[in-house]
Amino acid sequence: MKQMSKFTLAILSIACFTAYASAAEHAAHWSYDKETGPAHWGELAQENVMCKTGMQQSPIDLQPRSAERIGEKDFQINYHPTKVNVINNGHTIQAGSTEQANTISFKGKNYRLAQFHFHTPSEHTITHKNYPMEMHMVNTDENGNITVVGVFIEQGKENKMLAPVFSKLPVKPLTPKEKADEPTEVDLMALLPSDQKAMVYSGSLTTPPCSEQVNWIVMETPIEMSKSQIAAFQSIFSDNHRPVQKLNNRQVVTE
Ligand SMILES: [Zn+2]
Repeated sequence: MKQMSKFTLAILSIACFTAYASAAEHAAHWSYDKETGPAHWGELAQENVMCKTGMQQSPIDLQPRSAERIGEKDFQINYHPTKVNVINNGHTIQAGSTEQANTISFKGKNYRLAQFHFHTPSEHTITHKNYPMEMHMVNTDENGNITVVGVFIEQGKENKMLAPVFSKLPVKPLTPKEKADEPTEVDLMALLPSDQKAMVYSGSLTTPPCSEQVNWIVMETPIEMSKSQIAAFQSIFSDNHRPVQKLNNRQVVTE
């Protein structure tokens, strides 16, 4: 009997710990504003420590075509028309790939497209200037290594490739009772700029937990979206960008 109550006690303390952990997790909720904004991410939870102490953080300011830093092209993008599940995750609009066929090779290793999402204004800057938006195509390998293709978005013509997504952006995250929309087809290769000259460097996730050793391939040529497409996104997220971080001892290679 005594043994039994010890066991019960153990179960109870696990339950209490779990309740506490989920409360702490809730308190650690991050945003792009005020006390839970980018300047405080590193203090919101122990797991976010890299947001504060990391030396290879993203985004950064980029200076394209610095002559002494031209390198051999060591990435290849193989994307296809793909059905994506578009969600509002509370931080951005994210389109999850439903297919395995979209791959990218970087320095001889292969990664698969997991999802793409958007920031406004752009997170990376070009000689200290932001674009209105930036798209991140997040690719992962079987060990969880990450290569992100960043594409700047400038205001111009309507983006026909993104029209199926941007014509019905989910204004709020789904509640447990709501059903997700049917997947939408996007021609991912056509979405990329035709000139794939890019600035390549080693950085981090731009959201908590700000994990490092993320390969960044940021396209130099922007793609276009119409004023109303950009406005549709900004009506949901007025500002979801992390400011630029210190370069420290890093090299950005144009390739
Ligand atoms: Zn991003």
